[in-house]
Order: sequence, then structure tokens, then C-alpha cells
Amino acid sequence: MSSFAYFEIIAHLIPPIRPTMEHVLICLNLTAEKMDAINESYISDADGYGVQVRLYIWEGSTAPTNTFPDNLVVQVNAQPCVVPETQQPIDITANLILEQSHNSNKISVKWSSGDSRIFFMSVLLVKKPSVNQMVDLIRNGRIMAAESVQKMFLLDDAVRMTPHMPTMISLKCPVGKKKIQLPCRGLNCSHFLCFDAGAYLEMNERLNTWECPVCHKGAPFEDLVIDGYFYHILNSGLLGNGDFEVLVYKDGSWCAPSSLLHKNVLPITYITTTSLTNIEDDIPHSI
Ligand SMILES: [Zn+2]
Ligand SMILES: [Zn+2]
Repeated sequence: MSSFAYFEIIAHLIPPIRPTMEHVLICLNLTAEKMDAINESYISDADGYGVQVRLYIWEGSTAPTNTFPDNLVVQVNAQPCVVPETQQPIDITANLILEQSHNSNKISVKWSSGDSRIFFMSVLLVKKPSVNQMVDLIRNGRIMAAESVQKMFLLDDAVRMTPHMPTMISLKCPVGKKKIQLPCRGLNCSHFLCFDAGAYLEMNERLNTWECPVCHKGAPFEDLVIDGYFYHILNSGLLGNGDFEVLVYKDGSWCAPSSLLHKNVLPITYITTTSLTNIEDDIPHSI
């Protein structure tokens, strides 16, 4: 599993072409500035530059989909490039010769002549954003509603200890073991617990696995969303710096454990005042 959707396109080195044959040969001439940029900051690093070949089908009115032709072989300067398993740009950076004296790199893209689909191809200079820039993209991106996450608590037997007792839930990220700053989850995850966006991105900067640390399902960058429930908790103003856990009640409401020491009141902070009854109605085995 990998993730490429977030690469910033710096330049179309070869603008999209529609090859008429199943073998394309391109001489890629890079300017000295572009070669310097790639040499100074390589794509495997945050903020690094790289060169990608992208292939996609564009049929009728549907949006273009990244799809590889059958039996695809990509070579640069007669050396084979690693073709990823599915639907991703092909990173050819490692095969380029980036020297002033050798400013023409030969790209060969070849596939099975039996594949009659119409492909488009382009070569791009891309830049990988820094972890902080990627965290900001998540922060300004989609939110999974608090009510949806709360509903997962009601169904997540792994965290609900007993139906009538509140459960202590850690606010530490399973990746970095530090208190979560921007709570984040994969769109396809159905568990209650979340993780910290920055810690997850830093880990994938190194490992490139893009796998949810809670359930190990694929969680590529483009599927990451803010966890509205934990966002609400962490930004409620009701937690002290020393609060690394919250108590979550059977209906999904919560409170800071430290508040129990001081107050003799019903220790419930409802996440919303209106949602709870709706949620309970949706649960088949309502408590
Ligand atoms: Zn998960
Ligand atoms: Zn795993």
C-alpha cells in the first residue's frame, strides 16, 4: 500500500500524450535548474523532488483513472523501473542520470499489443510536501462527524468493557505514544480509536506502509479524515495538560477523569445535545 495523490505537480515535463502504438520512446531533456533541484532534495525525503510517469485511461465522460496497460515495462536509460502494483504513478527518479554532461534521459514505455484500450501518458516533475504541510492538508480537509465516531463506540466491543461501566480511553496516539494533537482516522475504519495525523505521516515518511495502526487496514493519505469526536474532546477546553485519558460512558458521552475529583456532579459532557437519542435508535441491540 502506498500513497501518491498528494504530490504537488511542479512541471509537466512531457504533457499528456496519447500514444498510437504500444511502445513509446521519449528523450527527456531536463534543464540544469531542474536537475539541481532533484539532486539537492531527493523524492524520498519530505520536500523532495522527483520524476513520475503517469499512465491513465480516459474513456467517454468518466474521469480519467490511473490504470496500467497489460504487461507494462518501463525502462529509463535501458534500466528497468519498478512498476507499482496498482494505479499509481511510476517513480523513475532513481533511474535518471542527473548530470550536466548527460542531459538526455531515454524513457521507454512498452506494453502488450493485445491491450486495445486507449491510454494517455505524461511525465511530471513533482514535489513531495513536508509532513507539516500534509498535516495542514488534513486539518483543512474532511471531518468524520462526531456522531459517526460516537456510534462506532457503541458497536466497538474491543473498547466497551462492560455495557454499564464507563471505559477509560487513552488520548495517546498508538503510533507516537504522545498525546494526540490532530486526531485522524482512515475513512474505511470502523473502530472507535484514532491516531495522531503528524505521528502517522512521520511514520509513513519512513515506512511508506499507509496502514491504520489500530486495525491494519489500508489508510492511504487521501483516505485520512479528522476524527470529529476526539477533535471535540481535545478542543473542548475541559481537559488539563495532565489529562491523557477520558472516561467514555455507555452512550458515548465523555468526561475528563480529573473533573471527577473536584465535582460531585453527574460527570457527563454530552458531545451534542441532540444526537444521542438518534444514535440509540439506530443501534439494533440498544442498551
Ligand atoms: Zn483502522
Ligand atoms: Zn499491519
